[in-house]
Amino acid sequence: MQPSNRLHVPARTIMTPGPVEVDPRVLQAMSSSILGQFDPTFTSLMNETMNQLRQVLQTDNHWAFPVDGTSRAGIEAMLCSVIEEGDVVLIPSFGRFGGLLTEIAERCGAKVHLMHCEWGGVFDPKDVIAEMKKIQPKVVAMVHGDTSTGRMQPLEEIGRGCREQDILLIVDAVATVAGTKVLTDEWNIDGLITGTQKCLSVPAGMAPLTYNDRIENILLERKSIEKGLVSQDQLASNTRKIRSNYLDLSQLQDYWSPARLNHHTEATTMLYGLYEGLRLILEEGLENRFERHRLNERALIAGIEAMGLTLFGDNAYKLPTVTCVNIPEGVNGDSVRSMLLEEFGIEIASSFGPLHGKIWRIGTMGYSCQQRNVLLTLASLEAVILRHKVKLNVGEGVQAALDVYQSKERIESV
Ligand SMILES: *Cc1c(COP(=O)(O)O)cnc(C)c1O
Repeated sequence: MQPSNRLHVPARTIMTPGPVEVDPRVLQAMSSSILGQFDPTFTSLMNETMNQLRQVLQTDNHWAFPVDGTSRAGIEAMLCSVIEEGDVVLIPSFGRFGGLLTEIAERCGAKVHLMHCEWGGVFDPKDVIAEMKKIQPKVVAMVHGDTSTGRMQPLEEIGRGCREQDILLIVDAVATVAGTKVLTDEWNIDGLITGTQKCLSVPAGMAPLTYNDRIENILLERKSIEKGLVSQDQLASNTRKIRSNYLDLSQLQDYWSPARLNHHTEATTMLYGLYEGLRLILEEGLENRFERHRLNERALIAGIEAMGLTLFGDNAYKLPTVTCVNIPEGVNGDSVRSMLLEEFGIEIASSFGPLHGKIWRIGTMGYSCQQRNVLLTLASLEAVILRHKVKLNVGEGVQAALDVYQSKERIESV
């Protein structure tokens, strides 16, 4: 048998809603030597990662640590540790990832009460609050930025409503953290999950999350049942025990506490990457980082529109890190995407379900979110669409984007 060829990875410009390009400094950190999981150098790296996470997630919560696995491992850890058999969970869903929350919550035994809205829109917080009053759920679980539709749900009012009614709010902020403002504490979010391969710009493989003591109390209560520290009849209804071992937050928090109770073996190399990725975010500064995301989004939109293409969805609730473009009539969207990849080495995304074949999704996240990438994408997209025999305003896309970048420079130099 012939041995396989040496790994060869072509250079790519990744403009999808994840995974995105990674700063070379993160990749370099990930090639550091392995440390044992109880090596003091490693455990202090764990502590420092928690510190950095609290800052990036804008929270004073004690618990802020990554779960090993991609974002959905974090979502599953949060939901299966909080939800018990028969709990009522309200899920206002405005895209595919609301569907993921539903799927996971149902597997945890929740009675899910779904609210739908048309893909491309978000909910009026008042409607969500009215529904909460009606069905009195234990948990409201929602997505902040749904990458499948490119919309962002305002959460502040819903968070306030949840707290007033003593309902837990759990949020999937996978697509928004470190790309746009996410105020965990100020918005009264009890449990929040993010992922590494979106705006954190670290390879996929960890799901940082945070939760407050309202959630910790549930974990401790369910754990004491497990250990038989409560009365016999409660013990008899052992259904309260957290059903997952790997994703049991009560065990994971013991591992991330000074006690370092052994659970899994921490993913050493991923933690180096996350540590360095968080460090770079804080070095750039959250506000500067959000401004960079806004600027590149603005340039991209200006370019798309000047070219003669149109945007999908309600613009008032556009997710700043994903831009959804209507595929022009008669064009095969997947053929455009493959040509972009094959001829230009640029990747953009299609979408799911009802939107597949209708829109392209262009991500501007993390390290991928830079002027050079936006200009290259606009120029290449124009060339490829022309190749698909659609009339465009030739040359205007890149010019409009350049106008945005240069007017920004003018503003800064006054
Ligand atoms: C990407 C994404 C996920 C899923 O992430 P994985 O890391 O692939 O598990 C969940 N929610 C949202 C909003 C996402 O954009």
